[in-house]
Amino acid sequence: MRVLFMGPPGAGKGTQAALLAQRFGIVHISTGDIFRANVSQATPLGVKAKSFMDKGEYVPDDVTNEMVRDRLTWDDAVAGFILDGYPRTVAQVLELDSMLADAGVQLDAVIEITANTDELVERLSKRAAQQGRSDDTPDVIRRRLEVYTESTAPLIELYADRGILTPIDGLGDVDDVTARLVNALAN
Ligand code: AMP
Repeated sequence: MRVLFMGPPGAGKGTQAALLAQRFGIVHISTGDIFRANVSQATPLGVKAKSFMDKGEYVPDDVTNEMVRDRLTWDDAVAGFILDGYPRTVAQVLELDSMLADAGVQLDAVIEITANTDELVERLSKRAAQQGRSDDTPDVIRRRLEVYTESTAPLIELYADRGILTPIDGLGDVDDVTARLVNALAN
């Protein structure tokens, strides 16, 4: 199973992608997690990514695309994956198309997890208190939501036009949302 998880910051992509990947026995690949791991180890990639992440901006496409292209060749991704937080720009969609074509595989589904802005801001503020992520401050949260609307929301339509988009309501208990996702992916 090859699936993309899309949706605004705070929609619950990461939490749900981890749960679903475990359930279906496939790998969860989060570009945000990979960047954060690199930042905390101060690798050259992390140093490059940090300045963008701290401002709520996207890491440049060439850096992000190269990282994902490499990650998708690992053995654990051959049987399937949930990609969480990628693609986020049209250029990334085209690059992912090329990666999948090179591997001779196709996406099975693109899931859009939806939630209204008030709920997103509340969840992100809560996460700021719990996890202390450096990009969960009020100004940066606002910028991340803007960047999502400008650069990533248009991809929803693009995948809808391809006929592989499934919107899932991200409101409610974690378990309820997981059940909706399992139901959507099992069909
Ligand atoms: P996330 O954990 O998915 O919210 O990602 C945290 C941050 O990592 C984002 O605000 C971006 O700065 C960066 N990032 C993650 N995924 C991407 C991507 N596909 N393209 C560019 N930047 C990304």
